[in-house]
Amino acid sequence: AASDSDGDDDEEWGPRQGPRGPDLPPMDPTYRYGDPSLPVAKYRRQILWLVENHAVTIIVGETGSGKTTQVPQFLLEAGWAESGYAIACTQPRRVAASTVAARVAEEMGVELGTGVGYAVRFDNAVSERTRIKYLTDGVLLREMMDDPLLTQYSVIMVDEAHERSLATDMLLGLLKKVLKRRPDLRLIISSATLEAGKLRDFFDTSTAGSTARRRAALTAAAAAAGAGVGGVSCSEPDRTPAAVTVEGRTHPVQVHYLQQPAADYVTAAVSAAVDIHCEDMPGDILIFLTGQDEVQTAVAQLEEHSRRLAGGRTSYSLRMMPLPLYAGLPGAAQSAVFRPAPRGVRKVVAATNIAETSLTLEGVVYVVDCCFVKQRAYNPLTGLESLLVAPVSQASAAQRAGRAGRVRAGHCFRLCREEVFAQLPKVTVPEMQRSNLVSMVLQLKSLGIDNVMRFEWLAPPPAEAMVRALEELHALRVLDDDARLTKDVGLALAALPLEPSLGAALLAARGLGCVEELLTVAALMSVPHVWAPAAGALRAADEAKAKFAAAEGDGVTMLNVHRAWRSSGRSSAWCGGAVGGGRWAMGGGRAGRHFLNASSLYRADEAREQLLGALRRHGLLPASSPPPSCGADMEPVCRALAAGQFMSAAVYEGTQYNPLAPEGDPGVHLYRLVRYTAHRTAPLKLRIHNSSVLWRSAPPCVVYRSVQQADSGWYEMQGVTAVQPDWLVELAPHMFHRPK
Ligand code: ADP
Ligand code: MG
Repeated sequence: AASDSDGDDDEEWGPRQGPRGPDLPPMDPTYRYGDPSLPVAKYRRQILWLVENHAVTIIVGETGSGKTTQVPQFLLEAGWAESGYAIACTQPRRVAASTVAARVAEEMGVELGTGVGYAVRFDNAVSERTRIKYLTDGVLLREMMDDPLLTQYSVIMVDEAHERSLATDMLLGLLKKVLKRRPDLRLIISSATLEAGKLRDFFDTSTAGSTARRRAALTAAAAAAGAGVGGVSCSEPDRTPAAVTVEGRTHPVQVHYLQQPAADYVTAAVSAAVDIHCEDMPGDILIFLTGQDEVQTAVAQLEEHSRRLAGGRTSYSLRMMPLPLYAGLPGAAQSAVFRPAPRGVRKVVAATNIAETSLTLEGVVYVVDCCFVKQRAYNPLTGLESLLVAPVSQASAAQRAGRAGRVRAGHCFRLCREEVFAQLPKVTVPEMQRSNLVSMVLQLKSLGIDNVMRFEWLAPPPAEAMVRALEELHALRVLDDDARLTKDVGLALAALPLEPSLGAALLAARGLGCVEELLTVAALMSVPHVWAPAAGALRAADEAKAKFAAAEGDGVTMLNVHRAWRSSGRSSAWCGGAVGGGRWAMGGGRAGRHFLNASSLYRADEAREQLLGALRRHGLLPASSPPPSCGADMEPVCRALAAGQFMSAAVYEGTQYNPLAPEGDPGVHLYRLVRYTAHRTAPLKLRIHNSSVLWRSAPPCVVYRSVQQADSGWYEMQGVTAVQPDWLVELAPHMFHRPK
């Protein structure tokens, strides 16, 4: 009974055979297909044959070889999107999904959202004509909630599998189950580097007991006529995964290291780039940094240098064009990054990790790598998940270096010493093993997978993290004492595309009469980058923010922002966020700048509508009447947030003053997590992040949405709301009690 590789455990996962997708209109005869000059084009026939005959095909290929943009087009051309089916291609990153979709639409000569579309959380461009759909792995998981067998798709390509995002790993485990129920479905897993062997073993269901069945199926398949290459085959495919390696088109890259460690890697990266620009042959420069702030800072510094250099001369009399690239970048600025540099101009792109494998920039000859990455880290002892800047793995660094060898032999400058580099971890730990698993467990449970401990993982998460997730869900009353989803909270929460704590706040808002407000708060807290980058104008940005600041905290501040934006007529000029990611900061004139990202606010409106729709669809809110509002009284809003986020309640402990700080320094306000105080091992250093409107005021008790760990070891709380300790006792009596 130990082995369930043969599908015996599937009884727990009910076969809700949904209908096949809607019949799509006939395919457009004007489609063009793909770019035959890319390396992957040579493998077209082989890939199609493998996909036809194998349930699972693994494609390993260098970044830029054309996996993401070309393979779905091969499938489309071969007829995999006929008879009402569509082709899905998942991406771990939302920018990649939309950018790649736009690129493929352009190649095929169709409008984005027709033949080719994308879907990311709270934003999509799809229609009933969409044949190729690029979507985030998270969105595909969401689609599984409504249609567990993903009957709309004939082929699912799980792309960028080497990133091993939490959602990708979870998806692979679930797709293994789906494949058992849908012999017509094909899975493609593609990746830039890979343990292909590991994936192959994971998906190999052809061994032991099922061999006989497979042989029978193959015979049946051989007998079935008319299923030639191309076209949807309904015969039983070979259950042994197939693998193909696409050789890239890369040139050697010479790697250089620092002699002396750099104190500040942003400045070090900028000066490395400036040196290259002044002395080396033409060719674009790509700088890897860890986050949007750093990218902004680097671009500002590069612009400074560029101005200074304009008078002087570089060896090749090139002009420097600094450009940012990060996830929240507005569309127009994104396309500027992909456009080739004009003659006499050298692009210097400062990018986050998205340029590592998800997006390909042509023309890069020099890579400057800070050798750090911002990633999730989770400590199951404290239950704290945080974002933290950590040393990059050697595998990631090799990928980054590879970006320099696209057009000709290139150079990679790593901003660390060679001895230090040799000590770095060989590979990145899968996200599954360093994340809070609350959302994942909730999703698995709502898909009917009750025994989450026995789920087949590509790499199992740590048992303590799993236990902690179950405990947290129990505390949120999502799970009952038998660890089953509760009817009232559990099922409702699973239906909302929100992290469980925000979802629980939204559900609590129903009883508190402030659904209208919480919809806005949850939406704004869920879309990234509401505040526009303000490099070079920090003071003005702070002043702009202060206009909306509420003593209740960041949630209510978001409400103020949204109200003001609505009364501006949803004007993007009013937002006055940076256009082009900081290069052309403008809009609304100096006085009118509010440093808000219009695109985030539009997306938040979309999110609000979707959340409202989800509440109504699942009978959590009456369909006809408008959502109840609490008017000007903000206490219900704070209470609702407390009801969802009580697990993150923290109390003020005192202020630490730095004896060396100048007179009037506010000091650091120390907080302590309320839960787990009993078995806390080391004191947690918690404080309010300076992006929060509460960071100076130090309210006695707060709840927060997330923490980020600073270099200094401090956990910094973000999305902070001031609450009354009494509320916690009322809202979660099973967790808190009044001190005697
Ligand atoms: P892979 O998935 O194998 O890394 P892609 O399919 O993403 O490769 O990219 C193939 C090629 O298509 C790239 O080398 C690049 O030249 C081109 N390309 C992809 N996206 C864009 C874009 N947004 N703009 C311009 N060219 C692009
Ligand atoms: Mg790709």
